[in-house]
Amino acid sequence: MIFFDVDTQHDFMDTDGALAVPDAQSIRSNIEALLTIAGRKGIATISSRCAHDPDDPEFKIFPPHCIEGTRGAERIFAELPELPREELSFDAAADPDARIETGRHYIVSKKVFDLFSNAWLDGLRRKDVFNGQECIVFGVATDYCVRACGLGLAEAGAKVYLVEDAVRGVATESTSDSLQEMRTAGVQFTTTDEVMKKILKTGNNQ
Ligand SMILES: [Zn+2]
Repeated sequence: MIFFDVDTQHDFMDTDGALAVPDAQSIRSNIEALLTIAGRKGIATISSRCAHDPDDPEFKIFPPHCIEGTRGAERIFAELPELPREELSFDAAADPDARIETGRHYIVSKKVFDLFSNAWLDGLRRKDVFNGQECIVFGVATDYCVRACGLGLAEAGAKVYLVEDAVRGVATESTSDSLQEMRTAGVQFTTTDEVMKKILKTGNNQ
């Protein structure tokens, strides 16, 4: 089992963030619960993180956000999960021997909204590391980064579970379209409680 904690950064999650996702406050405690249990049970967790330069091309589409070195770019639960961590910059080389290890936290940076733009992560996907893996996806925003994560993993053959009460989108219509698109791609929908129950019942059997 692998957790995907998508872009849970101050600029998206805080009401006064530079690119605040509406209602993101309401999923904070669920995200905290998921990251906490990941630490407790040693569940491999991949956190994606927008890490922009002030003049990044993405700012032609979105207002400036998550500029590296600012608080807005930091993860809201910076200390979670409590696991040994590895930081992978957006251009970190794809490692031919890389694999996702149980009990580790990987923080992957990116400059565009698709987390698979991170070379290291894309390398893993190309190596089929996610094929058949149970991937639990949560974070923001449903209609952009979460969508790219869910669809990218489904395409890679993963068993993808979207934690409905731990994701939020930017706009109502694009969010419901994205949910539908993910469902069509085979993504299953779950809740924070269901994920917690499953973990407590089975442990981490990765
Ligand atoms: Zn961004």
